[in-house]
Amino acid sequence: MFDSVLIANRGEIACRVARTARAMGLRVVAVYSDADRDAAHVAMADQAVWIGGNAPADSYLRGDRIIAAALEAGAGAIHPGYGFLSENAEFVEAVEAAGLVFVGPTAGAIRAMGLKDAAKALMAEAGVPVVPGYHGADQSDGLLAEEAGRIGYPVLIKAVAGGGGKGMRLVESADGFAEALASARAEARTAFGNDAVLIEKYVSSPRHIEVQVFGDGEQFVHLFERDCSLQRRHQKVIEEAPAPGMTEEMRAAMGAAAVRAAEAIGYRGAGTVEFIVDGSEGLRPERFWFMEMNTRLQVEHPVTEAITGVDLVEWQLRVAMGEPLPARQEDLSINGHAFEARLYAEDVPAGFLPATGRIGHLRFAKGVRADSGVRAGDVISPFYDPMIAKLIVHGPNRRIALARLRAGLTQTQVAGTVTNLSFLKALSEHDKFAKEEVDTGLIARNIDTLTYAPAASVEVVALATISALGLENAASAHQGFALWAAPRRNVLLTQGDKVWSVSVEFNGPRAMTVDLGEEQVTLMRDSEGHWRAGGARIGETVTLGESVTVFASQTHNFAIIDPLDRAMDGAGDTSLVVAPMPGVVSAVFVKSGESVKAGDRLALLEAMKMEHAMLAPRDGVIAEVLVATGDQIEAGAGMIRLEQAEEAAA
Ligand code: ADP
Repeated sequence: MFDSVLIANRGEIACRVARTARAMGLRVVAVYSDADRDAAHVAMADQAVWIGGNAPADSYLRGDRIIAAALEAGAGAIHPGYGFLSENAEFVEAVEAAGLVFVGPTAGAIRAMGLKDAAKALMAEAGVPVVPGYHGADQSDGLLAEEAGRIGYPVLIKAVAGGGGKGMRLVESADGFAEALASARAEARTAFGNDAVLIEKYVSSPRHIEVQVFGDGEQFVHLFERDCSLQRRHQKVIEEAPAPGMTEEMRAAMGAAAVRAAEAIGYRGAGTVEFIVDGSEGLRPERFWFMEMNTRLQVEHPVTEAITGVDLVEWQLRVAMGEPLPARQEDLSINGHAFEARLYAEDVPAGFLPATGRIGHLRFAKGVRADSGVRAGDVISPFYDPMIAKLIVHGPNRRIALARLRAGLTQTQVAGTVTNLSFLKALSEHDKFAKEEVDTGLIARNIDTLTYAPAASVEVVALATISALGLENAASAHQGFALWAAPRRNVLLTQGDKVWSVSVEFNGPRAMTVDLGEEQVTLMRDSEGHWRAGGARIGETVTLGESVTVFASQTHNFAIIDPLDRAMDGAGDTSLVVAPMPGVVSAVFVKSGESVKAGDRLALLEAMKMEHAMLAPRDGVIAEVLVATGDQIEAGAGMIRLEQAEEAAA
């Protein structure tokens, strides 16, 4: 028994585990690295212990320090979350040797499932269907090529120590084999320090369907399946439960196979048995094969919680306390349908690059379970996985749950970093997904439409303009306008390499005309304070420093360049163009001596994973370029100087 638990993790999963532990009356101990000193998971805990530097190898992977922290804080148990040390058998042994309870399986169970080849052999023995393939110790090039031929192309080469899709290669025919083998080995060596591979038949129209299992070492149940077929480069993007098109017969077969897998290793705690399913002719009980077992709680466990009503972390803690399994198979049933979408700070157009930034504004939709490890004001640092939240919805059936997912994604607001929100939304609206025609290649086949970013409409730019000028809540023609100025103001807005030079004019207490040059937009404010164009609400905005974000059907970020402010900042000096925020100069477009016009792009500054165009504040001639591409500069640093009128005349 224990009455306090240390959570050896960070981010959303540390917060998630803490929530249930708290609800069970346990004292919660957090651990943190330098970068996480003020993180949400630390704030939630009763006590927090610093364990080291930012790199995971210096903190969250330091088993010795984590165990010392648990002993120091008087915690009786350690919950590993997922990732980090959650599937590390040596860590489990060290935890137990220190007299602490590990909330999870035994070291032996983790080892049995740790290497894909040994796990497959074990499962085949236990009567669990395994993908036809070669899992042998002989790793010579010749034999591997021969085995690939015997299995029959297409085949998949996988790293035996693999995870996260690393070291995995699809080979279509014998000519490509040698090259794919070399690159899979190289990747596996770097990622896992082990370059052994296995070869598997590549399943066509593959679907990833996994079964949640639970054991107490003696009794085993399954909590039905999750479909994780929506993947990008073998990474799950949206998960759901139950699996579309699942039949009772197939579910019973998969559930029984998963329970056999858990039984074979005397499993204790929460685990997931992953299967690959050939979905080319619907779901058929003889067309699923074991891929691997994850001996921990999965990221996507909330969809199972949503349809079964079970709190899986509560079960984990109760079993770790020595209680028998809280339910029998016949007590468990499926209620409705659930989806989970993984919201990341990610630059989708740049190829899904992880992004960083301070989340100045964060709002989740009502009715959505948002499992998050960040709050408004928190920073997404470059050291860890850039997940912002998991958004989980439930409904009485798939159609309603999907509608809730779409609405939930539309109402989610994040400003301060770029996110994959538009991508998730496009996916949730995809016709094949709605029709339940999912397979692991759906995203790759439709990547262009799914990542297409529609341009901001003139209405959105108009709303961004009044927000940038602080006029959103202005009640009269005077508010927001300097008394000495005419009731007309200008601003430059940029988005990527697009630039809008916009002016705003008041034409009544609740109306403004925004002039975008080629087009004019009339905005009217309704009785609830929302701005409308042509009768329709445009969206909501958030202004953070020099950027404005409009939440319409999509999120649009703009950088604000206010020529008036710029002139004031420089005490009337419109000759010096300064960096509005710290960043890296990603391009310089002008040379000294060149003539420019007001609004011309002079340089690009990359900050908070967005590019900000630096524009000419007036017509003139470039006197000096003070920065070069690649320079890291501070806010306020001079970038480009224009010639003064006298200089030019001289
Ligand atoms: P990792 O442990 O690296 O994540 P997995 O073995 O779990 O690798 O496989 C990851 C994904 O690769 C699966 O979800 C599935 O989409 C695809 N995959 C794996 N094995 C096969 C196979 N034999 N045929 C087709 N696709 C596969």
